[in-house]
Amino acid sequence: MDSVTNKLDKKVAIIGGGIVGISTAIFLLRRGCEVTIFDKKILDKPASFGNAGWLSSTSIVPVLTPGILSKLPKMIFSKYGPLFLRFPGWISMIPWLLKYLSFSSKEKVNYIAENLKPLTIDTVAMHKKLSLNTQASRWIKESSFFYIYKNKIDYENDYSWTVRKNFGYQWKEVQSEELQNTYPDLDKDYKFGIRLDNMGYISNSMQYLSDLVDEVKKLGGSIIEEEVIDIEEVENKIHVVTKNLKNYQFDRCAITCGVFSNNLAQKFGSTVAVQSERGYHVEFEEPNINLKFPIMNAFMKFGITPMQTGLRFAGLVEFGSLNSEPSEKAFNKIISNAHEMFPALTYSNIKKWSGHRPATADSLPVIGQSPSSENVYFGYGHQHIGLTTGPKTGELLSKSILQDNDIIPLNSYKADRF
Ligand SMILES: Cc1cc2nc3c(=O)[nH]c(=O)nc-3n(C[C@H](O)[C@H](O)[C@H](O)COP(=O)(O)OP(=O)(O)OC[C@H]3O[C@@H](n4cnc5c(N)ncnc54)[C@H](O)[C@@H]3O)c2cc1C
Repeated sequence: MDSVTNKLDKKVAIIGGGIVGISTAIFLLRRGCEVTIFDKKILDKPASFGNAGWLSSTSIVPVLTPGILSKLPKMIFSKYGPLFLRFPGWISMIPWLLKYLSFSSKEKVNYIAENLKPLTIDTVAMHKKLSLNTQASRWIKESSFFYIYKNKIDYENDYSWTVRKNFGYQWKEVQSEELQNTYPDLDKDYKFGIRLDNMGYISNSMQYLSDLVDEVKKLGGSIIEEEVIDIEEVENKIHVVTKNLKNYQFDRCAITCGVFSNNLAQKFGSTVAVQSERGYHVEFEEPNINLKFPIMNAFMKFGITPMQTGLRFAGLVEFGSLNSEPSEKAFNKIISNAHEMFPALTYSNIKKWSGHRPATADSLPVIGQSPSSENVYFGYGHQHIGLTTGPKTGELLSKSILQDNDIIPLNSYKADRF
C-alpha cells in the first residue's frame, strides 16, 4: 500500500456513511490518510442497508428506456404496477421528471449504459477488494441470477436485453421445466427465465456495513455521529459545520450523503440534483422456501434475495415522498405479490423497511472533484445500483482526492454536466 506524500492532503472528512462513504473512507485509510466519517446516525438503516443486496455486474440499463411513456399508465395503475406517485410531493418534481424522461431515447440509453458499464462490470471483485482481510468478506456470495417472465414474449419486449446484447453481455435462456426445477415453489405461471452468471449478492446487509465500519475504526478512522449542515472553505481549509454548531477542520472533504446530497453539493458548484426514488422491502423471516439463486421478477419488477436473515423482496419506485412516512399500501403490495409468486410461502415474522434511492436525471452518478474547489469531492446519485457500484466509486473518489486517478476518466460523472 502506498502512503500519502503530500501532508496537506491527509486529513479528509467524508460526509455520509453509506456504502459510498464507507468505501471511500477505507480506500483513503489504506493509503495513509487521516479520515473522519460524519453521519447523522451511522448504520441507521440507510439505502445501503435496505437494498436487495445485488452485486449486479450487468445493471447498465437505466429504468427509463425508449417507449416508456406508453408504459407509464400500466406501471402506475395496474395491480402489479411498480410505480407510485405520492401527492402532493410528486407535483413539485415535474420539471425533474420531464428531464428524467428526456434521457430515455435510444441514444441516451446507450450513452448511460456505456458509462455504467465500467462502474458495474467488476462489482464482485471490487467488493472483495474492499473487504479484503475483514469480517465483511464473509457476506459476499458469488451467484447466478434468474430474471423470470410469464412468457417469452415479455422477455422479447424487454428493451434492457437489447442494450445488454449490444454491450457484449451473455446469458442463457431457461424454459419452463428448468425454471420449475430450479424453483420448485414458484407459481407455475412463470414459464420463461434468463440465467445470468458472474453476479453476486450480500447475504447480510446490516452485518456487511457494520463489519466495514469496524474496518474503518481498525484502520484508525473516526466516526462522528452528527448531521452536517454546512461546509465552508477558508484559506484552503475545509470547515465542516454540524447541527450543534461544532466546527471541524480538514484538508479535503467528500460529500457522499446519498439522496440528501443536494444542498451541500450545490454550494460547491454541482448542477446535478438528486431526487428520491423511494423503495421498499419486506423480509420474511424463517421462510419455508429456500432460493438457490436470487430472482428478478421481471413481471412484478422486484428482486428476491435469500438473505441470511430471511427472504427479502425489494423493489417499487415511489416519487414525491422524501419527507413522508412509508406507504402501507406499498408494503401490502409486496406481501401480496410474494404470496402470488410463491403460493405455499410461510414464515415466522415479517420485517419492513423503506428508504431512498438517490436518482439523477441521467441515471449517472456524480463522482469526482467539485467544479469550484479542489478540496471538495462528490460521490452521490447512484440510483438503483449504489451497492453494486459503491466500492468502485470509493476507489475512484479516493484516487481523485489524492490526485492520482488512473482507473477511468471521470468526465461523464462530472458535477457540472447539466
Ligand atoms: C428497495 C431498494 C432496493 C435496492 N436494491 C439494490 C441492489 O440490489 N443493488 C444495488 O446495487 N443497489 C440497490 N439499491 C440502491 C442502493 O441501495 C443505493 O444506491 C445506495 O445504497 C446509495 O448509497 P449511498 O452511500 O450513496 O447512500 P445512503 O446509503 O443513503 O447513505 C447516505 C448516508 O449519509 C448520511 N447523511 C445524509 N445526509 C447527511 C448529513 N447532512 N450529515 C451527516 N450524514 C448525512 C445518511 O444518514 C446515510 O447514512 C436499492 C435501493 C432500494 C431503495
